[in-house]
Amino acid sequence: MANNQKLMQDVQAIVNQQAGGLHRVHLFNSIPQKTLTNARRKYAKALENNETVIALYDNSRFGSGKSGFILTADYLYGRDLAGNGIFIHIKDVTQIIFEEPGVTIRARVHSPLRLDFARAREKGQDRGLFMALGEIIELLDSRISYTKKAPTGYRKEISSPKDQSTTPVSVPVYARCRSCGATGKIGTLCKFCRNVVEARN
Ligand SMILES: [Zn+2]
Repeated sequence: MANNQKLMQDVQAIVNQQAGGLHRVHLFNSIPQKTLTNARRKYAKALENNETVIALYDNSRFGSGKSGFILTADYLYGRDLAGNGIFIHIKDVTQIIFEEPGVTIRARVHSPLRLDFARAREKGQDRGLFMALGEIIELLDSRISYTKKAPTGYRKEISSPKDQSTTPVSVPVYARCRSCGATGKIGTLCKFCRNVVEARN
């Protein structure tokens, strides 16, 4: 909980840096329930009930929440060009490309996530939002207790008595799904193919 508090402060600081603030971005506790419900139905069906929503960007014409994106501590949910809901694990993000009128999030596996910022552009907010998104993703990426290398390194770390007595233990939380290669929490069902995500050994 304390960690979430710090995270929320950091994200708020990033958002505040953007001149004039960011329109249509709802953070944490200030996300209207109806907006979140609509976003879930339209493009974020895979969002788990226990996932902490960090930010919701509402790109819909009347603020219904039916298009845009949702950022949680682990995933970015949005819509592809065909309007289908897709999501990318933060650790799978390899590149964020700003190309008017939108942003393309490239990932190691699965299709790129295309975020349409056309309505943000009307308000001249697109670049600020893009910058903030990149910074927030970087921030989340640095928090997730898993390196981009295979998690086997952590096994050595947690078996060291020194580490256990002096520093918080790094437990491998994430691994690549053996079936499809997506990143998921160990012991949970892969969001893409529903196979159990196992720790590698
Ligand atoms: Zn899978």
